[in-house]
Amino acid sequence: MSDARALARAYLEQQRLVGGDAVVLPGGSGIGARGAEGPRPESRAPSPEPQGDLPPPGLSFDPPSGDLFSTDPIQQAADLDAVARLVAECTKCRLCESRTHTVPGEGPAHARLVVVGEGPGRTEDATGRPFVGQAGELLTKILAAIDWPREQVFICNVVKCRAPENRVPLYDEIAACRPYLFRQIELLAPKVILAMGGTAAQTLLDTKQSLGALRNKLHRFRGTALIVTYHPAALLRNPNWKRPTWDDVRIARRLLDR
Ligand code: SF4
Repeated sequence: MSDARALARAYLEQQRLVGGDAVVLPGGSGIGARGAEGPRPESRAPSPEPQGDLPPPGLSFDPPSGDLFSTDPIQQAADLDAVARLVAECTKCRLCESRTHTVPGEGPAHARLVVVGEGPGRTEDATGRPFVGQAGELLTKILAAIDWPREQVFICNVVKCRAPENRVPLYDEIAACRPYLFRQIELLAPKVILAMGGTAAQTLLDTKQSLGALRNKLHRFRGTALIVTYHPAALLRNPNWKRPTWDDVRIARRLLDR
């Protein structure tokens, strides 16, 4: 088998695993990723044309935000520190039982870019800081690659406490924790949200669509531009995903520049 065919097979398998619809091989030839399975139902619908150098519109999720008369302490939290204090005392789900530290997130209150991951890992749980360790170092490099220093980014997760054995957070755990995330985004009012990994993307867009189906579209969360890409931990397991991730973060950068 030629090198080109071997590469094509590797790409197709990669896209099949993440639920992708199509791949573009070096040289520009496109190949459907579903092979003999045929196209996924949603891929039959014609996509809107891309707008200039941006991907086509995707989903829009607009959950209600709090009002002045809300008695919910999360909605009453006046700033990011107040949210972090609520998180530190939170026992709304079972993840509080095994945590060492809560990991509310960190970054400047005026951040124009917000990165959202899934949840704290071992190192994050030990330190109380998001995206540290190997995956965090990779995130720092990804941000440096688009010339957007990590110090200018607010970085957080969907759930603020580590799930045992780093399992994916359960639906009720996400439901209990996401009001903190939504309030953080409300307070930050960023220009762009970068959802890293399926859990972050599905939570912020209120969908069960796969990460592959959600990539390369310009979504909206309460009107704010939202781009979906791979989680850095996934990139460590599969370096082939670095190139599409690079494509995604460059879209985020273009949005920040607008
Ligand atoms: S994961 Fe979120 S909801 Fe659950 S205990 Fe921690 S802060 Fe509370």
